Amino acid sequence: MNAPERVTMEIDQTLCIGAGRCEQLDPDAFTVGDDGVATVDPTATFTLERANELCTRCPSGAIGISP
Ligand code: SF4
Repeated sequence: MNAPERVTMEIDQTLCIGAGRCEQLDPDAFTVGDDGVATVDPTATFTLERANELCTRCPSGAIGISP
């Protein structure tokens, strides 16, 4: 069986409202800065299932899977 595909993620900082959901769900990968905008570790990888869950949980739709 193949290992599940892993992806990296990105945040559209013009959409982020600083709700912090991403940081709560994965504090190792996501950080909300003092400016109230989240960043994601560009080297952090996620299973496709987890990535889709994170996208869904962001209330402003700012989180996406990197192309
Ligand atoms: S969950 Fe979405 S809106 Fe909230 S801090 Fe993370 S990227 Fe920003």
